[in-house]
Amino acid sequence: MPKIQNSSQVNPRIQEIKRQRSLVLIKPDGVQRSLVGDIIGRFEKCGLKLVAMKMIWPDKVLVEKHYSTDVGYLTELGEKAKAGMAKSGLSDSRTPLQIGKWIRSQLGRYLSIGPVVAMVWQGTNSVANVRQVVGGTNPVTADIGSIRADLSIDTIEIANLEGRSVRNLIHASSDPDEAKREIELWFSKSEISEYENVMDKVLHDAEWDMPKGKK
Ligand code: ADP
Repeated sequence: MPKIQNSSQVNPRIQEIKRQRSLVLIKPDGVQRSLVGDIIGRFEKCGLKLVAMKMIWPDKVLVEKHYSTDVGYLTELGEKAKAGMAKSGLSDSRTPLQIGKWIRSQLGRYLSIGPVVAMVWQGTNSVANVRQVVGGTNPVTADIGSIRADLSIDTIEIANLEGRSVRNLIHASSDPDEAKREIELWFSKSEISEYENVMDKVLHDAEWDMPKGKK
């Protein structure tokens, strides 16, 4: 069998993937419902490392900067909402962009109604892993075992009929670039801790299970 090079030691791309970071917010409904401990435990158990955390009551300025004004993003948000409404037999005469803008304004209200817990989680493919642990946007169809399915019973359909955001407990960055932007928005460099823990060895050190002398 060909000898496989211990590539993680030499490949900076692998190191980058292992050290990826994601921003997570426990939204005001999660704080109000005393779910902070349970939610943090789920990220800890999957092997991610907590490198920053604080409680903050976001003002309108911060929320305004947090949610993208990108037309593509807002149109996509509106399209998803329209498709969801159609599934429930509802129709909306507004364009997807108009609906996206409307959802964004509801989100501003939702996120600033009370304190949130902001965190940065680091680990292999953190962005995708965090989103897996969090589950899909609509709690009623999110995967069983995810935070949104297990801990929320709100639905997008009812939220839309009531003209509000769906109360789905969490915000999580949707891609690595968005994560970088969001982490810079919510945390200063000095608030992020670089430290080693047992996961750096057991989960991320390619040499951990190699017999001594064969490295
Ligand atoms: P996610 O948070 O799963 O990444 P999106 O980025 O699509 O989802 O939407 C951001 C947030 O906007 C959601 O978490 C949710 O609170 C709210 N939201 C999204 N779509 C709708 C909708 N159709 N109706 C009400 N609220 C919505």
